[in-house]
Amino acid sequence: MKQRIGLFGGSFDPVHLGHLLVAQAAFEEINLSRIFFIPTAQSPFKPESSPVEPKDRLRMLHSALAGQTWCEVDRQEIDRGGISYTIETARSYRNSFPDAELFYLIGADHVAQLPKWREANALAELLQFIVVPRPGEPGVELPSPFRGNFLRGFPLAVSSSTIRARVNARLSIDHLVKREVAEIIRNNGLYL
Ligand code: ATP
Repeated sequence: MKQRIGLFGGSFDPVHLGHLLVAQAAFEEINLSRIFFIPTAQSPFKPESSPVEPKDRLRMLHSALAGQTWCEVDRQEIDRGGISYTIETARSYRNSFPDAELFYLIGADHVAQLPKWREANALAELLQFIVVPRPGEPGVELPSPFRGNFLRGFPLAVSSSTIRARVNARLSIDHLVKREVAEIIRNNGLYL
């Protein structure tokens, strides 16, 4: 049987329970073999934002995913540096896993932008999308030529921006991120 590989790109600044539930739902509903979390160096759609250092985002991801044997962290976009384009990452997975089926996970909030992604046609050929519901986002459809599935998921209205704003306002982030992630944020004075 072909491997079914999920690719989950994002800033993960920081990784929160919304992200983890997206992965869990995709694993179960789409029957994925494994999921790679791929933190961006710099998102092309968030040019004005400067996420915390890659080493901190990677550390939070590794501790959030500890023990989840089907989840891995891939640092290729961080290592390439600069603006991270999904087409480059997709090509690298196609080379490494020539026979696998590739699925790219995105929140419903990003679907409308898909046609603007670099080399959209080539990307649509290389992989399928898995669209995850996100509270507050109206029902979306995948624009042509993209193919994919929609998840039921566990819709959770949590975002990294909310977490950053809460930390900055000295509000609790317990139950919004894994305990290990909250500790890393606290111990390193992130987002203050
Ligand atoms: P920010 O608030 O800084 O914009 P974010 O919470 O959207 O960040 P990202 O790391 O940018 O997090 O998101 C990576 C991917 O995960 C995107 O496709 C995004 O739509 C999706 N995602 C993030 N949070 C959720 C959530 N609560 N439910 C569904 N999808 C989500």
